[in-house]
Amino acid sequence: MNYNRRLVCLCGTPPILKISWTNDNSGRRFLGCRHYGSSFQNSCKFFDWYDLEFPSQANTVILGLLKKTNKQEKQLKCRRMLKLILGIILICNVILFFYLVCR
Ligand SMILES: [Zn+2]
Repeated sequence: MNYNRRLVCLCGTPPILKISWTNDNSGRRFLGCRHYGSSFQNSCKFFDWYDLEFPSQANTVILGLLKKTNKQEKQLKCRRMLKLILGIILICNVILFFYLVCR
């Protein structure tokens, strides 16, 4: 879509480009009020799609990739936590070893 740079939302500020992560419109960009969802009291609910609607196949692919990425991020988080726990156990064992040897 061809938007004029002087576009102003209902509360008088230029809207910002955001990305939707809903199931129906994953990855689709839209213009929204920069104050929406913030504590700014005079925010409006300005909303307009920036991208044309994606074909349903594109939505399916994007959702699949998003789920895959989320799953990998969870696995990575678990691995980092496991490494931290193993590191703590290793340090405790080293301290215990020297404590028992030096007694
Ligand atoms: Zn606004």
